[in-house]
Amino acid sequence: MFCSECGLPFRKGDSAEYKGTTYRYWVCSGKRRKDKDQCTCTNLLIRDEQLLKTVSDALGLQWSTVDEFDADALANSVERIVVKPDGVDVVMKYRQTANG
Ligand SMILES: [Zn+2]
Repeated sequence: MFCSECGLPFRKGDSAEYKGTTYRYWVCSGKRRKDKDQCTCTNLLIRDEQLLKTVSDALGLQWSTVDEFDADALANSVERIVVKPDGVDVVMKYRQTANG
């Protein structure tokens, strides 16, 4: 999972609690640097749910909840996830066809 703006990997960020619900985020590594002069990335953080829902759509899976998301299907099918300021690109792994 990578950032479209600076190419650095996204990492799991701190969870935030809002009205009793905990939200999990992913954030670009470039944003986590303490030295703000080096933080050149303008990409936004993305919510776990938003990310997984997008990937779920790309895989053609039916979306339910984050907890029910099929992580195995993701690992088996997705080559790369690129987070852009205006959305998420899901790059699928090459799949062999029956006709080869
Ligand atoms: Zn970035």
